Amino acid sequence: MTKTNASLFARAQQSTPGGVNSPVRAFRSVGGTPRFIERAEGPWFWDAEGKRYIDYIGSWGPAIVGHAHPEVIQAVQQAAARGLSFGAPTEAEIEMAEEIIKLVPSIEQIRLVSSGTEATMSALRLARGATGRDKIIKFEGCYHGHADSLLVKAGSGLLTFGNPTSAGVPEDFAKHTLVLDYNDAAQLEEAFKTAGNEIACVIVEPVAGNMNLVRASDEFLRTMRRLCTEYGAILIFDEVMSGFRVARGGAQELNGIVPDLTALGKVIGGGLPVAAFGGRAEVMKHLAPLGGVYQAGTLSGNPVTVAAGMATLKIIQQPDFYTNLSTQTRKLADGLAAAAQAAGVTFAADAIGGMFGLYFDAKVPTSYAEVMQGDKERFNRFFHKMLDAGVYFAPSAFEAGFVSAQHSDAIIEETVAAAARAFSELG
Ligand code: PMP
Repeated sequence: MTKTNASLFARAQQSTPGGVNSPVRAFRSVGGTPRFIERAEGPWFWDAEGKRYIDYIGSWGPAIVGHAHPEVIQAVQQAAARGLSFGAPTEAEIEMAEEIIKLVPSIEQIRLVSSGTEATMSALRLARGATGRDKIIKFEGCYHGHADSLLVKAGSGLLTFGNPTSAGVPEDFAKHTLVLDYNDAAQLEEAFKTAGNEIACVIVEPVAGNMNLVRASDEFLRTMRRLCTEYGAILIFDEVMSGFRVARGGAQELNGIVPDLTALGKVIGGGLPVAAFGGRAEVMKHLAPLGGVYQAGTLSGNPVTVAAGMATLKIIQQPDFYTNLSTQTRKLADGLAAAAQAAGVTFAADAIGGMFGLYFDAKVPTSYAEVMQGDKERFNRFFHKMLDAGVYFAPSAFEAGFVSAQHSDAIIEETVAAAARAFSELG
């Protein structure tokens, strides 16, 4: 039997729930058959049927220098040849820590982990351990990985602690999480007035990328910083997605707000599993073996994954890397918006650094509620037309997109031309 995406999907569903190892890959939101990827290079990947796609997911963020970059591959091969894992410290881990500390000034000390989920989960535990408080604040539409306390939706009243969004999360955990509206500074102020002395931390995506792309307003972030300082709560920037993606120093470089802790992932592993959390030394010292907050990992700081991360961090420091990346991403967003307008399709687009958002709506949204007003059915039709044309956008109207340093003018132009055809057929 010839191998097709459909035959692989049918086979995958026999051995793996839903046929995928992470839910969004299953195309549930857009319908149709997921593409099974065989290989990737630069801005492209190829599926099991040999079809080539321009990739605007980049592994959901990590592939910022393009797929299979020769310097990253060589670093991985050389590290692998020296042994895959030691369970003992290495100089490479020190170098990686020093490099991140150099690039993100709010980070004085850092610990490496293997996934974004681990980074945010550990940062929460640290914040709770350091403050001796249980309650946390998160915002609707922000995703911080799948730790229990973070899979929580708003309670029935706005300032009511939350309910689980996933089966298997005890109410007893969710009740410590207060879920507020993104970009609503007044509501945050109200929450601190009511329960400020019980709040261990506020966790936020300073550029949200998990409800499509939504910018945080200056006022929102400034209010958050002020309230955390006033009430002795820890401000955690979840920059797993925005870190080294929207700017070299992450969203905090763009908005000038200094968080107490930062979670990183994606780009810092260059496609292999590396994530990290770090921040003020005074907070980080609460971690074991120095302090009472336990956190550990068999493969934390793994020599092969760290080699991929370090090679990637070197490339992104080349002159004009972010200027060029931002220019290409902006060209894509503006090109798509112009093509939609020419076809009379209600559409908006936004771009920050190497990240972009596409909205089937008249304006760029500022909150989860506004994102939800977009025309999801139109997005789904657009997605499939683009997929057929060899352009792979995120398979959901509620995810951001990613451009790499290998997305040349020709690639962007090819994308915009395909989009112009798709928009004109949307009706
Ligand atoms: N935080 C943010 C902002 C993310 O975007 C993600 C993943 N998309 C995570 C945390 C979780 O990271 P991981 O999937 O590596 O566990």
